[in-house]
Amino acid sequence: MIGHESGSMDLPGASGSGVDDTLSRLGDVLGDGFAVPGFDAVARLAAHSLHVPLVCLVLASGSALWFSADAHRPDAPHALHPRYIEATRQGQTQVVADIEADPRFGGAPLLTGPGPARMRFFASEPVYTLAGQHVGALCVMDYSPRDGLNEDERADLRDAARLAGTGLLLGSYVGRTDPVTLLPHRNAFFEDLRARRRGGEHRAWLIAVDVAPVSRFGAFIRAMGHAYADELMRDVAARVQVWMPEHTHLYQVGTSRFAAILPGSPDTIDATRMDELVHRLRQPFDCLGIPLSIQPGVGLLSLDIDELDGGDPLRLVMSASHAAQRSVQGWAVYEPSDDERQRQEFFLVTELAAALNDHTELDLHYQPRVDLATGRCVAVEALARWQHPTQGAIAPDRFIGLAEKAGLMRSLTGWVLDRGLAQLGAWQRAGLDLKLSINVSSSDLAGELVDRLREAAQRHAVALEALELEVTEGTLLEHCDATRQILASIRALGVGIAIDDFGTGYSNLASMRDMPATSLKIDQSFVRAMDASPHDGAIVRSMAALARGLGFRVVVEGVETAAIFASVLDMACDEVQGYHVARPMAAAELPGWLARHDAMRFRRRAG
Ligand code: C2E
Ligand code: MG
Ligand code: MG
Repeated sequence: MIGHESGSMDLPGASGSGVDDTLSRLGDVLGDGFAVPGFDAVARLAAHSLHVPLVCLVLASGSALWFSADAHRPDAPHALHPRYIEATRQGQTQVVADIEADPRFGGAPLLTGPGPARMRFFASEPVYTLAGQHVGALCVMDYSPRDGLNEDERADLRDAARLAGTGLLLGSYVGRTDPVTLLPHRNAFFEDLRARRRGGEHRAWLIAVDVAPVSRFGAFIRAMGHAYADELMRDVAARVQVWMPEHTHLYQVGTSRFAAILPGSPDTIDATRMDELVHRLRQPFDCLGIPLSIQPGVGLLSLDIDELDGGDPLRLVMSASHAAQRSVQGWAVYEPSDDERQRQEFFLVTELAAALNDHTELDLHYQPRVDLATGRCVAVEALARWQHPTQGAIAPDRFIGLAEKAGLMRSLTGWVLDRGLAQLGAWQRAGLDLKLSINVSSSDLAGELVDRLREAAQRHAVALEALELEVTEGTLLEHCDATRQILASIRALGVGIAIDDFGTGYSNLASMRDMPATSLKIDQSFVRAMDASPHDGAIVRSMAALARGLGFRVVVEGVETAAIFASVLDMACDEVQGYHVARPMAAAELPGWLARHDAMRFRRRAG
């Protein structure tokens, strides 16, 4: 046991203002009714060795923690009379043998509050932290007067107070308090919800504040360092606290996440107040002299506290805050359907990560691209397929976006590149004269893509000229100068570049002129609508003409029917792709299809 008779002790890492600061904040954090893990054990020891029914720990802030060893009055609400609180602040042992006879307190009752028992005996011992900081007092009390405390009892009280001091800081760190913001954390949040349930409450209004999408926060910490991130979290917490209703505690429930239990009825939402919180959080932070804006999301959940144990209310309210981050409003009330979607997404992401590890569920299908001048199939587009063991076939439109969000795209593209080029090499060696196009996403467009392409082509002994990358118009618009340079280096390798899904990004064609692209694929949404709408026909026709005029090879995708094919024939179109020509197929089917393929059917006849 470490003593503190000298009043102060130096301990490495626990000196001076840091600890003062910690404890003054700790005092703010620990309101009445909050449990400190470890306190009960210390109090029980004191109650047992001193034979007292009631023990409390009064903190410097005035808030107190209570322990009752009296089976008849287990949870009586108490508060120490201010005069006694004042006495505990003296930093000395106090013994009041008979409260009613002691002139120092003028006969004031020891306890206040609704219907407390009348106490006659009181003793307190100052509590110090390991660093010697006076943080409060451990108090014991009894219903009957006593003669005072004998030597053994004094020693017991002193030991209990020392334990409380050590436990207070340790216990609060370990059990309740986030070391960075000194806010009570996740465990405390649940303890306090349970305390409300014990207090007879049935519903609680939960609020969660999400500061940044987790993946981006990780990248942000790597870029700025932990000290900056810590400071930012303190600043965010301070802004939320200023907004919060009085007597409400903010909890830090994740690295960049806060939660609170709001007072009031869950039936009414004060939209103006919520807007105000979002507005506050959207103002730029000036953190360590570096300005930064965050993307806050505020979620709300009306919780049935009785169902606390079966569920995970934090996860639910977080799903609302997560959804809110992407919304204009910035705050949202929990919706079970959003939650179900996120659960499903989470499930798929973990499954996809596993599938990317063993590759047995993933496959590539290939869709022919036919050159209208000759009617020949000049290239195939590799399209990822995922056959999940219980969910069945999962469409790329579902898993590609998820892979991108979850940071799995690099791995997926790596696999597509490897598998696609291996297949292309095999076909070429079998005498098929084909090119291959593969789709790449936003996160693939980093400088290293150039090396990855070169390396993969070498490994599979295929010429880089036989490869084309498809980048969607949307992706090209997101990026800019840096992307253009990467694409230029890829072009310099001899790899073709196609602007995919053109027309969906609402860019004007002229802005694509600067892109080092070789072909442009007109999006199938316009093409498929051509059957029904002359208007769409006119759009495709003019897009094709403009693109050709800008020097692109024009590919029309989504050619589903003979009628569409016929109308495309007299447009400025070089290649077609679509169900009318062939659906995407497994690698093993392609040679047979090519052998059956009747080039005459797809050739544009002169004149
Ligand atoms: P995309 O690159 O525009 O590929 C063409 C999509 O249109 C394919 O859908 C293809 O099956 C479908 N399609 C082709 N012709 C027709 C037609 O005549 N009618 C109809 N209704 N559909 C047609 P799929 O395979 O479902 O892929 C959807 C999108 O997912 C792709 O659009 C591409 O953006 C993305 N994708 C697929 N595989 C990969 C991949 O390996 N990597 C990346 N980054 N994206 C991929
Ligand atoms: Mg494509
Ligand atoms: Mg496309």
